[in-house]
Amino acid sequence: MTSRPPKAATRVHRLPTIAPDVLTPAQRVGRSCVSCRKQWPLPRVRIGRLPDGSPVMACSDCAEVLGVD
Ligand SMILES: [Zn+2]
Repeated sequence: MTSRPPKAATRVHRLPTIAPDVLTPAQRVGRSCVSCRKQWPLPRVRIGRLPDGSPVMACSDCAEVLGVD
């Protein structure tokens, strides 16, 4: 399932801005998946950002479901 080449050169593809009030504190600091709240392994896919520009992270499983990876 991981036969895709790495996309290191992928630049900012318009990430949605997510309101921090719908997130847990852990999600706000990027330590918890915004979808399933899993904290381990750390979510590694940036799927959005907060109004202040902080990244909002999701685990790879959820990112795939969300269509971002
Ligand atoms: Zn997740």
